[in-house]
Amino acid sequence: MDAVLERLRAIVGDAHVLVSVEDRASYQRDWRGRYQGDALCVVRPGSVEEVSAVVCACAEHGCPIVPQGGNTSHVGGSVPLGTGREVIVSTSRMNRILAVDAPNNTITVQAGCTLAAVQEAAQAVERLFPLSLASEGSCQIGGNLASNAGGVHVLRYGNMRDLVLGIEAVLPDGRIWNGLRGLRKDNTGYDLKHLFVGSEGTLGIITAAVLKLFPQPRSRAVAWVAVPDAQTALDLLGLVASRAAEHLSAFEIIDASAFELILKHIPQAKSPLSSVSPWYALIELADSNATSTLQVLLEDILATALEKAWVTDAVLAASQAQIEALWALRESAADAQKIEGISIKHDISLPVSRIPEFLQAAEQALTEHFGKIRIVAFGHAGDGNLHYNLSRYEAERNAEFIARTPEANRIVYDIVASFGGSISAEHGLGQLKREEICRYKSEVELDIMRSIKRVLDPAGIMNPGKLL
Ligand code: FAD
Ligand code: ZN
Repeated sequence: MDAVLERLRAIVGDAHVLVSVEDRASYQRDWRGRYQGDALCVVRPGSVEEVSAVVCACAEHGCPIVPQGGNTSHVGGSVPLGTGREVIVSTSRMNRILAVDAPNNTITVQAGCTLAAVQEAAQAVERLFPLSLASEGSCQIGGNLASNAGGVHVLRYGNMRDLVLGIEAVLPDGRIWNGLRGLRKDNTGYDLKHLFVGSEGTLGIITAAVLKLFPQPRSRAVAWVAVPDAQTALDLLGLVASRAAEHLSAFEIIDASAFELILKHIPQAKSPLSSVSPWYALIELADSNATSTLQVLLEDILATALEKAWVTDAVLAASQAQIEALWALRESAADAQKIEGISIKHDISLPVSRIPEFLQAAEQALTEHFGKIRIVAFGHAGDGNLHYNLSRYEAERNAEFIARTPEANRIVYDIVASFGGSISAEHGLGQLKREEICRYKSEVELDIMRSIKRVLDPAGIMNPGKLL
């Protein structure tokens, strides 16, 4: 093992090969605190050439590689297994904006740029990079691509797959593939970049990307509303979508339990409404026209909804500060849940129309099986994506419940599958769902995935034990 460490030091410099237990610690533990791995070292290359040389060295010495960006994965995808032999390749030093082409509406960035840095660089040329996640200050573009991140504006702009035009990647044999093309039209064969999107580090290391930019929204209207149940929330979504059309940029829902945890654990969180409700929705309309009358439009839509009793109470943000406060409520849901304690998490998607049936069927089946449990549901209703988390109300009984995760997963995922849904909407498979997925994908689909892996990574050195 000393030989490979020497090689790596020669490539990236002593300072960028982290070997001590203390230096490795934060790279080996996942964000949720669920997975604790053990790596040989962490390597922080500074260029694509260094990544290539690092991959060659690891391949020659038979050391598996774990690509890592901001290490915010929710599925244990970015941390090593417990073997002590893996090399974590962190892209954190590769954080340069390489080019901004405003007329072409593209930005070319290194994989280690944080999502927030890319949003800022876009803003500097009066453009929008629309991917938006609560982890945007720490997650990186390489990780966003490798996990095909979604977030709150998928409804309007699509997920990471829809936002990428070109990719540069280092293959498991060390070759560099430069596919950094800023083209909206390019029908010259298989679209290889899409293989790397959602590949969770199993096919190579993404080192740079060309991303799409959009006109900046110059007016926004945001409302926080109380709705009596999930079906009504979807009726409301239908109403807003038909009246606001392309101006609808987010439609998020939060159930009463999620909201209760936010108010309990997030110090600055305050309910904008005077009453409590079983469900809430956050609606955002946006327009690139500064003189747009979105506020009037949203007010008008809400008046119709109040009349129909689809909305029981509502607040329309009157200032930028209020817009941010309402969004902060929604975005603190994951943090609040984390502070409350460990839960069994499900990141699922369903045809939007089937969300209410799913909620009813899942609650019934879970209660029959486990007795009383706390269900915390929130998410991107406009995309049919729910974060559906389970725990016991009594902290002292929670550990025993968490130990029964496989039973809870089976119940939830079988119902998701029976409604034509997916067991991973946006977080990926990682270590968490790599076995589970075998039950829900056809043998043909799994076989194609394994064949692609074999062709690109015959020795299986890229992120073993993840996804497949
Ligand atoms: P990491 O966690 O470092 O890695 C994720 C996966 O990608 C791993 O499998 C890793 O091996 C691989 N990888 C990383 N970099 C590269 C690379 N350069 N080349 C090849 N493979 C690589 N996700 C959503 O989709 N929507 C959300 O709304 C959302 N909200 C979140 C909120 C919070 C508070 C947190 C902590 C996470 C959230 N996530 C969300 C999950 C996570 O932020 C995203 O998946 C993010 O895209 C991961 O980026 P990262 O740089 O942290 O990647
Ligand atoms: Zn999400």
